[in-house]
Amino acid sequence: MVCVRREVFLPGTPGVPAAVARTGTGTAPCQCRAVRSWDMETSTEDASRAHTGDTAAAAPAPEPGAAPAAGPPLAVVPPDSLSPSRAGDFMQCPLLYRFRVIDRLPEKPSEAATRGTLVHAVLERLFDMPAGERTAPRARSLVPAQWDRLRASRPELAELFADDPDGERLARWLAEAERLVERWFTLEDPTRLEPAERELFVEAELDSGLKLRGIIDRVDVAPTGEVRIVDYKTGKAPRPEYAEGALFQMKFYALVVWRLKGVVPRRLQLVYLGSGDVVTYDPVLADLERVERKLHALWEAIRRATETGDWRPRPTKLCNWCDHQAHCPEFGGTPPPYPLPLRAAPTGAGAQGRMGPD
Ligand code: SF4
Repeated sequence: MVCVRREVFLPGTPGVPAAVARTGTGTAPCQCRAVRSWDMETSTEDASRAHTGDTAAAAPAPEPGAAPAAGPPLAVVPPDSLSPSRAGDFMQCPLLYRFRVIDRLPEKPSEAATRGTLVHAVLERLFDMPAGERTAPRARSLVPAQWDRLRASRPELAELFADDPDGERLARWLAEAERLVERWFTLEDPTRLEPAERELFVEAELDSGLKLRGIIDRVDVAPTGEVRIVDYKTGKAPRPEYAEGALFQMKFYALVVWRLKGVVPRRLQLVYLGSGDVVTYDPVLADLERVERKLHALWEAIRRATETGDWRPRPTKLCNWCDHQAHCPEFGGTPPPYPLPLRAAPTGAGAQGRMGPD
């Protein structure tokens, strides 16, 4: 398949290719196909695993918030890769990382996280339609069907609205999802976008052997080859002093793309549907090298904790949203027996000093 494409620009991002619009057939090779030849795609199963975070190939962990899979218990294996979410878990609280990655304790589905998944699905599916049909009413109309689909694929979500017999709370929740979808149209114009990739699973192995993986919401590629990585957030943009934490995930993806393709993405873009903000950052190679060093240090700390079983709780305000207080010593709980072989911690290892995103 061949196509002719034209570069388009969005207001507020002068000089940066917002996306590539397909304008009809022609003779130039389609860049979308070139991007698809990155070989970064994988099966739905792999994608789901990557949403989970770093897991072992032999025994994928259930998605946080998902009920444990039926059937025989999965073998417990040490983590072998890192995703932005799980890196964030370890930086927030090493014990939380253990509960999610090693013990794989189940977590209750949350309305906010599930709404985020629903909105992401709608935005992704909208691009299946011809550009001219990607309107806000059309996008809103996708919400109920995508919710049905999501519920069918994750039966545990039924418990979210089990105590809502008249459906009032569900109706409010769906209306909020529609509002978030609608707000996207004030921030981007999907009739002028032709993403090279959506929900793209990426995985790269660094020279050290550390595997990085994740799922990128959207990749735009200009005819010049410039790459823009886009991530949708259904929450509000953080205050400027916390922006670095939010950008960590994007720099992680940029590092993976750079390691896979040798291309430093031109722009990283966070689209906050909750507050109607767009945060962009144009990374340089030094940013990615810094993130790579950071991830190596993080991985070394995770590796030491895995071997020694020394996963320290780090209480913060975020504990209010932690599903594992019943197992956490900070809240009078006891962790389950450690399921991996132990090695004595080296004296003065200092394995779990506070680590920030950058
Ligand atoms: S309750 Fe807080 S300290 Fe305990 S595991 Fe959860 S996040 Fe960590």
